[in-house]
This record gives sequence, structure tokens and C-alpha cells, in this order.
Amino acid sequence: MADTPLTASIRRRGLMLVLSSPSGAGKSTIARNLLEDDPAFELSISVTTRARRGSEIDGRHYHFRSARQFEIMRDNDELLEWAEVHGNFYATPRAPAEKALAEGRDMLFDIDWQGAEQLREKMRADIVSIFILPPSMGELKDRLRRRAEDQDSVIAARLQNARDEIEHWRDYDYIVINEDLDTAFSEVKAIVTAERLRRDRRPGLFDFVTGLLDEKLD
Ligand code: 5GP
Repeated sequence: MADTPLTASIRRRGLMLVLSSPSGAGKSTIARNLLEDDPAFELSISVTTRARRGSEIDGRHYHFRSARQFEIMRDNDELLEWAEVHGNFYATPRAPAEKALAEGRDMLFDIDWQGAEQLREKMRADIVSIFILPPSMGELKDRLRRRAEDQDSVIAARLQNARDEIEHWRDYDYIVINEDLDTAFSEVKAIVTAERLRRDRRPGLFDFVTGLLDEKLD
């Protein structure tokens, strides 16, 4: 839902929205829909050492890097958080996220529970986290198969990893069950709308309310 001109003009802090889920639960689709629907959001593009899938574009879906390049970035403190997932390294580049936060812009992070945990420690008040659950493990397996960009052995590893990921559901502010994509997406949008309206995220309200009370009525 778009802000009205008045709501949009009241200064607020940026929202750092973390979306996590096991692979195949629909997180990437929800993230993509949110970016298309809400131009205020910018995607944090992660660095990864995993091989690029056929449909992926370097610099848009991920920054694909070698293990050596990853180590250099990590050692130079260029990464806000990093984790090993399915045997590959993934990380959030520090500079774009810190810039967005400083400028009061909203950023979307599609990261796993380990990354979410590290971001909560570093940007506590600014983080809103949503965990997306599949309706069942059977459905998750089918979705992974249908995606078919990964081999069978990769799918088996991802299913095992899904169980470990789901164990962390309690760490998240919100839980969305993706049985129906449209419903799940509207639930995510509702969370974003409500979080943007939080009083403590809107320092500009002070001036607005002061002006409201000073308004001369005839
Ligand atoms: P995939 O290989 O399917 O693109 O992603 C595998 C997992 O890594 C997903 O759960 C995804 O959210 C997570 N991931 C992607 N980027 C990052 C990142 O920058 N940091 C962390 N901690 N996890 C990430």
C-alpha cells in the first residue's frame, strides 16, 4: 500500500526487513513481488561463493565471488554478516546497508537465520524479521523438485537444511505460512505497513503533532 503524500512527508527511520525461510518456501518470490510492488525497498545483494544458476545474473541476484575474494572481503571488514549455508559462503556487503540506514531508506535482506541473528545484534531497533514457513515438508520437497535447477543430491541436502532452518522460527518477529502465495504476500505487506507506522520509527511525528496542536482554527 502506497503512503499518502502526508504520511510520506513525515520523516521516518528506514526499515531493515529480513526475510528468511528454508529454500523452496517461496521467499524469493515474495521478495521479488515486494520489490516490484513497493519502490521504497532496495534489495541487499549478497556476496556468495556458490556457483551461479542458469537464470541468475551477477550483480543482480548475487555478487558471485571466489572463496579467495570472499576471504579478502571478510578480512577487510567489508561484510556486515556472513554465514556458511549448504557448504557455500554467503554474506551481506556492509557499505550499501549502512548507507541505506543512514539515509533512512528501506532495505530488504533475503538471508538465513545465521545472518538474521547477526543483523539483529548490529542493527537491533531497525530490524524487522519475518520467517516464511511452507505448509508442509511434502510441499516443500515438491517445490524444490519443480524448481529443478538443482540436482537430486542438492535437493536432499536442502531438505535436511530446511529442518535446521525451521528450528529457528522462534527468533523472528513474524511468521507467515505460505500456503497460498497471494495471501502470504498480503500478510507480508500488512506487516510492512504496520511497522512503518510505529511511533518510534517516525521521529518526524514530533514536528507534525506540534504543528497540529499549534494550528489556528477560525
Ligand atoms: P540460495 O543458494 O538458494 O540462493 O540461498 C541459500 C540460502 O542462503 C537462503 O536461505 C538465503 O536466504 C541464504 N542467503 C543468501 N544470501 C545470504 C547472506 O548474505 N547472508 C546469509 N547469512 N544468508 C544468505
